[in-house]
Amino acid sequence: MPEPLRLQGISASAGYAEGPLFNLDPVVARYGRKATAADERLALETAIKAATGRLATLIEATKGDAADILEFQLAMLDDDALTGPAFAAIAAGQPADVAWRQALGAEIVGYETSDQDYFRARAADMRDIRDQVLRALTEDSDPAAPAGAIFYGEDIAPTRFLETDWSSGGGIALKAGSAASHVAMLARSRGVPMVVGLGAVGLGASPAHLAGVALLDAEHGGIILAPSRAEVEGFRRLSSSFAARRDRAKTFLARPAVTKAGTAVRVQVNIADPSDVDNIDVSTCDGVGLMRTEFLFGKTLPDEETQYRAYRKVLEWAEGRPVTIRTVDAGGDKPVPGFTVAETNPFLGLRGIRLSLAKPEVFRLQIRALLRAAVHGNLKVMFPMVAVRDEYEHAAALFAEEQAALSARGVAQKMPPLGIMVEVPSVAIAPEAFTEVAFFSIGSNDLTQYVMAAARDNALVAHLNSIRHPAVLRLIASVAAFGRVQRIPVSLCGDAGGDPAAIPALIEAGLRDLSVVPAQLAMAKAAIADVSI
Ligand code: PEP
Ligand code: MG
Repeated sequence: MPEPLRLQGISASAGYAEGPLFNLDPVVARYGRKATAADERLALETAIKAATGRLATLIEATKGDAADILEFQLAMLDDDALTGPAFAAIAAGQPADVAWRQALGAEIVGYETSDQDYFRARAADMRDIRDQVLRALTEDSDPAAPAGAIFYGEDIAPTRFLETDWSSGGGIALKAGSAASHVAMLARSRGVPMVVGLGAVGLGASPAHLAGVALLDAEHGGIILAPSRAEVEGFRRLSSSFAARRDRAKTFLARPAVTKAGTAVRVQVNIADPSDVDNIDVSTCDGVGLMRTEFLFGKTLPDEETQYRAYRKVLEWAEGRPVTIRTVDAGGDKPVPGFTVAETNPFLGLRGIRLSLAKPEVFRLQIRALLRAAVHGNLKVMFPMVAVRDEYEHAAALFAEEQAALSARGVAQKMPPLGIMVEVPSVAIAPEAFTEVAFFSIGSNDLTQYVMAAARDNALVAHLNSIRHPAVLRLIASVAAFGRVQRIPVSLCGDAGGDPAAIPALIEAGLRDLSVVPAQLAMAKAAIADVSI
């Protein structure tokens, strides 16, 4: 029995899994070479067709953001720009498998070496496309993973995730990966434990480490290979305490959140795609505290009508509860083709409100859609990445101009309350420049990374990126106190709002309004009930 090996990464979806490791890294399959270039071409065409058919079948069984991922892959497979170089290589004498591997390899390297997390995260989709066609070429299906396995490797393909039956447990442990990837989003929404950024196994590892049972602690972001008996026992205690907390939390879902001392805390939800609300019982939350809109800006810039329909859908679903929609926060880790610009340091660049103000023709379209949607519910609008008062004033002036123009044309519209995200330290330190805003929403993900100078998506500095550092908490408390004195509502919509370990400190800092991912709604309410303030 080898010595236990502990690896630490970042939690991408909380939970526990104990099971055999299943190696995700591709096994080189054998491909039978053909006699002529024409036959090689036919083999690749047939394989692409087979992969396309498989994706189409999977799309029928999927919906929401999962279907979007598969549709992206389908579109890529249909794109001559992607497949063309492989066919050219076949014409020049390469066999189909080598031609395909090389053509896709070049694309994948481009995505992997991007300095933007968004593109690095999409590299997984490209590898998925490569492997699906290779699989079809070799007619070798991957070996099946045993039930309850922990999928372990560089990264996991979205199709692999969607094809796996997670009902008997299991989890995902990635050497690379990203908490912002498509699969991470899916894992969170389906409650599959997942850890990313574990790094290579290192010199201490033997084949025996990979052959046995592993313990995945995706609450704290670690995995133990070849665990000792004591570690297995300790893990099982943690795991059953997590399961008990989750079960107990469910009983809190239907009730409004209150602390032990009877202090009411509003708990709203964060959503991205309008279809996210399809799976949420509206009576379990106090509204939408953050609707991110950059996902609507996925492949192309959405037109006014598409945006209007998306916003209206969420407002009608909310049945009069507040819905806070954030104007597009493109840039940083969320580039939008045709809108964002390439930068060496995108987190400190032209992102959020800065970009919207720099491209008013795109911004005005969103503003018109929001003003029109506002008549269908209780809309609030907020601006991301505001650093100085001028940005708020400029954005508010554009709202006033567009409202006047719509009203002159007789179009139904309404001016919503306009607030700002507090996620740039300048605003948190000197909020007195913003006394005219309707509300503040603390973006703790960005506020923490800017205060601690530790990127939110880098496992190597994850220990520094903590909302519970006194510097971050002190800033949050001072914004909450400023809001109370000035009668400006203050909420928090960063991921920390749904983190049971952070909730007591947030309430102690004076917050009474949190917005959390839907999967964390019950856990957040249960954690609030344990606070004695
Ligand atoms: C935040 O920064 O905390 C936030 C909610 O915005 P995003 O995660 O979209 O940057
Ligand atoms: Mg942010």
